[in-house]
Amino acid sequence: MSDYNYPYKDAEFLINEVIGFDEMCSSAGLDEVNGELLSAIFEEANRLATEVIVPLNVIGDQNPATLDENGVQQSPGFAEAYRQYVDNGWGALAFPEEFGGQGMPKLVGVAVDEIWQSSSLAFALCSLLTHGTVEALIEHGSDELKEVYLPNLVSGEWTGTMNLTEPAAGSDLAAVMTRAVPEGDHYLISGQKIFITWGDHQMTDNVIHLVLARLPDAPAGSRGISLFLVPKFLLDEQGNPGQRNDVRCVSLEHKLGIHASPTCVLAFGDNDGAVGYLVGEPNRGLMAMFTMMNHARQGVGLQGLSLSTRSYQQALQYAKERLQGTRSDGSRFPIIEYPDVRRMLMLMKSGTEAMRGLAYIAAAEIDRGRFATDAETAARHSTRVDLYTPIVKGWLTELAQEITSLGIQIHGGMGYVEETGSAQFFRDVRITPIYEGTTGIQGQDLVGRKILANSGESLAGLLEDIQACADELGSSAELSGLGTALRTAVETARTARQWLLDNAGKDRSVAGGAGVNFLMMMGYICGGWVMGLSALKASQLLAAGGGDESFLSAKLVTARFYCEHLLPRADSCLTTIRAGSDSMMALQEEQF
Ligand SMILES: Cc1cc2nc3c(=O)[nH]c(=O)nc-3n(C[C@H](O)[C@H](O)[C@H](O)COP(=O)(O)OP(=O)(O)OC[C@H]3O[C@@H](n4cnc5c(N)ncnc54)[C@H](O)[C@@H]3O)c2cc1C
Repeated sequence: MSDYNYPYKDAEFLINEVIGFDEMCSSAGLDEVNGELLSAIFEEANRLATEVIVPLNVIGDQNPATLDENGVQQSPGFAEAYRQYVDNGWGALAFPEEFGGQGMPKLVGVAVDEIWQSSSLAFALCSLLTHGTVEALIEHGSDELKEVYLPNLVSGEWTGTMNLTEPAAGSDLAAVMTRAVPEGDHYLISGQKIFITWGDHQMTDNVIHLVLARLPDAPAGSRGISLFLVPKFLLDEQGNPGQRNDVRCVSLEHKLGIHASPTCVLAFGDNDGAVGYLVGEPNRGLMAMFTMMNHARQGVGLQGLSLSTRSYQQALQYAKERLQGTRSDGSRFPIIEYPDVRRMLMLMKSGTEAMRGLAYIAAAEIDRGRFATDAETAARHSTRVDLYTPIVKGWLTELAQEITSLGIQIHGGMGYVEETGSAQFFRDVRITPIYEGTTGIQGQDLVGRKILANSGESLAGLLEDIQACADELGSSAELSGLGTALRTAVETARTARQWLLDNAGKDRSVAGGAGVNFLMMMGYICGGWVMGLSALKASQLLAAGGGDESFLSAKLVTARFYCEHLLPRADSCLTTIRAGSDSMMALQEEQF
């Protein structure tokens, strides 16, 4: 079984050189935040991860959370590890200081989250949902709710959950049926939520649920859904957890992966009704929940990257050790010498580097929006974040399926048996294209809300940025091949964009049928952009004689491999998009 280590070199290169961290921080007045501090943070997080959390990954897989009369009992070792995580201040890293956070940029929080997620996805999920709860409360909670609940959520003393799904309301949240009846200064919530991640546990003395429910007079559909905060324990006059609220975990799901992450059926109001407090405006709950979901969607994209990285690191180690070939002198050689194994390793390496670049660029875009001093700049960054979010969620998690599968393939038969650990990454990552909105939903979001809703303008802006990178690559003798590949890809995207604008209005199934291919096309192209930007920086640093020569020259090769082997997939996406939805929709249901 392999060790895990955060790929510092790649992360720091991306953050410091490609994104320009120091400049971003100093222009935001964060004078004490810089690349040096970043390295120290990474080192500390990596230490906790490798010493404490990584060993829990297999333990949790083999000892899932259980349910007894006292509620959900988390997997062994998780409570102790979570305590260390909280005591060392990791929960509060990237939240505003006014709520007890440490005020680090989102980008730092995302990079550190990669470390936790790579170590144990099941463990890290708990904090991902707490962070989403915090974001939603900061944006939509009343001053009183913020004052009472935020400090303990920010520190991680209490954890948060997200309660959308019901038996009849999955992708279609308009079908939510949970009820909320006003009573005095609060509401009484009743109904059943399913699939609630970390919906109960004993690691903290309270769990704060954010719950979608309907008021008695609410209009039908998505415009009649409100958001409520429902604590597991009601607070006493001192603000400490007191009386048990009427919400309970009534069963746990048995799953393909993330066994240590309890996936709960939660019953609200089986007795008198669970006390809840309105978050934001009545009937505007879906909008408020979208704050949480957008946070979580990028976070789930990062999960795809995190497990791909883990899978790659383990496959690489195996490929160097597994002897499976004999030279003419009788000596045996490792499988890493075979071109086909190289193909798989390079696909994993270049894919994860492109994924990391896109995830970090998207996180930095959130920071740039927050740090903006005028409304127009903030809006520009926010529009770009909106465009990135479904691509980060959809492309990273879909590509992760292929990468973690290749991780198994490189192990041969040993990959298929559980003891090497490679199979667990593949099982754990399978949920990521499903929860927080399936890839189909992300594709529709990208095409409908993020492209067609603004007549393709924000996409055109992104393509201009990618084109600028292609032009710069093209003007370098050494990198012109990458420039040509990226320019072709931009043309591909422009053709697809125009096709969408010309055809979407004709038939609803045209846009619906094209969504996922559009998303994947944009993922491959954004990945090519990141690798292009990285190659430009690597080449400049090499020419200046600065930096780590071995890392930088490897980056140039990895970028070339990406442009030769992964970027051309954008073309095949275009072919599929242009085929339209005729053959997809032509069969009568009974013909299937
Ligand atoms: C392990 C796990 C953890 C989870 N954690 C949480 C949690 O913490 N909180 C929470 O609220 N939920 C959670 N979920 C629920 C998860 O978000 C849903 O499973 C997911 O949104 C899909 O909903 P569904 O399962 O009802 O599938 P369905 O909506 O029934 O979808 C089935 C298929 O139909 C497709 N489909 C459905 N509608 C459309 C459409 N409009 N257009 C195109 N295709 C469509 C989907 O893409 C999918 O392929 C979790 C689920 C799991 C398995």
